[in-house]
Amino acid sequence: MAAEKFEFQAEVKQLLDLMIHSLYSNRDVFLRELISNASDACDRLRFEGLTDSELLPEEPFAVNIHVDPEARVLSVSDNGIGMSREEVAQNIGTIAKSGTSEFLSSLSKSADPAISPELIGQFGVGFYASFMVAEEVSVITRNRDAAGTTISLKLKAAEGDEAIANYTDEWLLRQIVKRFSDFVAYPIHLKIEGADPPSSTEPLNSMKAIWRRPDEEVGEEEYAEFYKHIAHDWNEPLLHFATKIEGNFEARALLYLPSLAPFDLYHREMAHRGIQLYVKRVFIMDECRELMPEYLRFAKGVVDAEDLSLNVSREMLQQSAQIEVIRKHLVKKTLDALKELKESDREKYQSFWTQFGPVIKEGLLDLSQKRERILELVLCESTAAKTGSTSLAEAVARMPEDQEVIYYLTGPSREHLVNSPHVEAFVDRNIEVLLFTDHVDEIWLEQNPPEFSGKKFQSVLKGEIDLDSAADKERDDAKREQDAEEFKQLLDALRAGVQDHVKEVRVSNRLTSSPACLVVDEGDLSPQISELLRRSGQNVPDVKPILEINPTHPLLAKLKAVCDADAKDPRLADYATLLFGQAMLAEGGQLEDPAAFSRRIAELMLETL
Ligand code: ADP
Repeated sequence: MAAEKFEFQAEVKQLLDLMIHSLYSNRDVFLRELISNASDACDRLRFEGLTDSELLPEEPFAVNIHVDPEARVLSVSDNGIGMSREEVAQNIGTIAKSGTSEFLSSLSKSADPAISPELIGQFGVGFYASFMVAEEVSVITRNRDAAGTTISLKLKAAEGDEAIANYTDEWLLRQIVKRFSDFVAYPIHLKIEGADPPSSTEPLNSMKAIWRRPDEEVGEEEYAEFYKHIAHDWNEPLLHFATKIEGNFEARALLYLPSLAPFDLYHREMAHRGIQLYVKRVFIMDECRELMPEYLRFAKGVVDAEDLSLNVSREMLQQSAQIEVIRKHLVKKTLDALKELKESDREKYQSFWTQFGPVIKEGLLDLSQKRERILELVLCESTAAKTGSTSLAEAVARMPEDQEVIYYLTGPSREHLVNSPHVEAFVDRNIEVLLFTDHVDEIWLEQNPPEFSGKKFQSVLKGEIDLDSAADKERDDAKREQDAEEFKQLLDALRAGVQDHVKEVRVSNRLTSSPACLVVDEGDLSPQISELLRRSGQNVPDVKPILEINPTHPLLAKLKAVCDADAKDPRLADYATLLFGQAMLAEGGQLEDPAAFSRRIAELMLETL
């Protein structure tokens, strides 16, 4: 068949330019990326061959590096799955791969136009690394009989201004393969045209499964390179651990947690390279979702089971009791490793939490999980800590013994929440309020909230709050009744002004400096979660909040005087609307008619001048 030429899309060209000019520091990795893709292609064909042996190649799977020093051409060939015409266009030539376009748009937003290797790692644009060393790259591939792919690079000059290392040199190539790809499961052969003596036929790599080697024998760098290979991430992993299951059946696992979140962590269709499943050292499948719950989807690694069938299918995995046991084991070990990190290196853990905390908290929505274990990992903002964040155990340790609940408030940011009128009375009494600022917090805290250390979570926004000891409470209750009695007429007048917007107007015992605030009845959805559900297209009943007023605020004293003089004074309704609007704004909420609100304010300003 005649060769067909595809043009790169403009965006891809732009990406290539950026890469070539930004990534001088470690060009050697281009070979790692090519070998990694070649090995993946063999894995995939081997997997298909399990059910249809006709597809398997005659020759054993292998990766061949072929070098022609005179022509300055280096090629990497594999007898793996190959690509169809559409796949070439989709995977390599265009920006159809969502990662590439997001990568570019995030670059154009960043102030520093240079691409850091971290960024590239996050977006997995590995194949393009070839352009760091090549002026021309050709891809020859077929995906049916005699399937395979050859990627040939016409290398740039090894001398001159933009000289690259001499990638036609046997010694250098051996070094690079040993360093980055030693564990690749297929032999990597090197052939150099015209070499004298001829290059050895021995593979360049040991092919030893890294998870089967004694831990003390494997260096940190080898572990890191293996991670980069399986995760298609260019960054160092945050941590790794090996674990073994023994008993009725045997399995080993080598797991990694990344240090940076991939760009598609929240995409529904995220690639989830996740966990690879091997059976007796034979690769079975990538992205084995059955081995990790969604909330730990960022974990990467390898599971090698001794007693599963080599013909295991995805359907069988879903019902396999062994897989279930392995999964539980991996979850436990992963949570253990994170807890350990939290205790041994808080700073590192904090940076991990910033990246992945919201995903881990998704696990709190799943009632089949051991939620207490997940809660042990949670960090959040708090009124008791000026900066940084606190763990729940630290917060509970600070609480007076007789405090039965953990108070919290959710919202978009710490700044937003610490200044909320709801928090005032708590801060005043030195009672800590935890401030949760991720979207997912609204959901786990409101729907089936878990308990931590035997304590319930209580929103400071909801219901009537008792902040005082029994004796104080009696006194406070009496005081509130007295206030309610005293303010009855005013409350009625205000209620008449805002009855379309609120369920009730009542006297508050939670405010100290703000004149009013909005609260939600126990059992009602908070405004934030209603909004969240509404945005996700759900039908949410319209819940009206309760307006609480602060009887000790001078404004209320004045309003009371106006009301006492004339309960029908029209200014009372105006003020009720203003108090309501102001409380809404303090909440970070939106006014129904902001224009009318500001008009009233302007009128008032004028009057008082
Ligand atoms: P990544 O490997 O991180 O997905 P790449 O840019 O390296 O990104 O490769 C893009 C895609 O092209 C791969 O996911 C794979 O589907 C395909 N591909 C690359 N090299 C090969 C190969 N040697 N054989 C088969 N498919 C390949």
